[in-house]
Amino acid sequence: MDRPTQPFDQLRRPLGVLRLSLTARCNLACPYCLPDGAEPPGLLSLEERRALVAAAVALGAGSLRLTGGEPLLNPGLEALVAAVQPLRARGLREIALTSNGVLLTSERARALRAAGLDRLTLSLDGVTGTAVARMAGLSGGDADTRRRRGEAQLEQVLAAIEHARSAGFAAERGQIKLNAVIQRGANDDQLLPLAGLARQRGLELRLIEFMDVGNRNGWRPEAVLSAAEMVGRINRRWPLDPVGRDPHGTAIRWRFRDGGGHLGVVASISAPFCGDCNRLRITADGIAYTCLFGSQGTDLRPWLRPSPDAEALERTLARLWRQRHDRYSEERTALALGDQRPAPAEMAYLGG
Ligand code: SAM
Ligand code: SF4
Repeated sequence: MDRPTQPFDQLRRPLGVLRLSLTARCNLACPYCLPDGAEPPGLLSLEERRALVAAAVALGAGSLRLTGGEPLLNPGLEALVAAVQPLRARGLREIALTSNGVLLTSERARALRAAGLDRLTLSLDGVTGTAVARMAGLSGGDADTRRRRGEAQLEQVLAAIEHARSAGFAAERGQIKLNAVIQRGANDDQLLPLAGLARQRGLELRLIEFMDVGNRNGWRPEAVLSAAEMVGRINRRWPLDPVGRDPHGTAIRWRFRDGGGHLGVVASISAPFCGDCNRLRITADGIAYTCLFGSQGTDLRPWLRPSPDAEALERTLARLWRQRHDRYSEERTALALGDQRPAPAEMAYLGG
């Protein structure tokens, strides 16, 4: 049977990135995300995940992003990174991890580097104990207790950045980045301090507009701080020059005029980038989604169990990709779908 060649979807978009979620669980409860406390049944094994990555790489995905929930909760993470290394010979160029960083000890940072991880993006939504506690959903106790717990968490993430650096991830080559979701009225006062922290530590900061993923995060348009407003506020403090968005990239990038590095804004609400979106998402239990705002996935387990069937998996993924026509973020504004759209899957399940 002939293997499918690189598929293009209905809008002529190639497959380029596989975002693979390793768990739906998280050690935090960020209110804009609100993960499930429990894992879905039927989690994939290491061998099944390796087979999925191999199939996506065969269809042109050069980039693998490991995510969750919190992927560091998965003890098999390092083994998976090691297991996919042979796929570099078949076109896998880059393996990245998105994590909240709380569990990134120096041992794990070294183990991930040794296993062959190329890049890390750590999420941090504030630089004070109070802001970190609020954005991470730390609950219980009085305000002072929560502030202290937020401060401890902030220290853990700052330490994680340095563990990553010591393990050999080079921030100046974009191998350590910071993600921050900015929500108007919740942490928009953290915008300049976060930019200052990223500049000081030589990291590229990616500011993400608060998105309407899932059903639980109480999203309202008024809570979105647009990328233009974020850039405007930062530009007034540290002037910026535009760099632009890489083909198929998510972030519009800017350069600090004073040589303080780069900044990115992910404008999925105010300036959607569906037009060249090349990302396939697969959940921890093997359901494929062709859009972050998708409500319906395709269960890939029939081609993974009892043992992975490489050719059938490639054919199934190629068919799925060829049928794809999602452009929800662009349609959101044009169609004012609002509440009428089918219930979308949750962010921590899909992996962001
Ligand atoms: N737990 C890891 C972390 O937080 O980095 C990985 C999974 S998390 C779902 C991936 C990314 O999605 C994080 O950078 C997070 O901030 C972002 N995210 C989650 N919910 C979001 C929302 N409603 N709007 C915008 N970004 C969101
Ligand atoms: Fe957990 Fe990441 Fe969701 Fe926050 S954004 S709750 S860290 S999965």
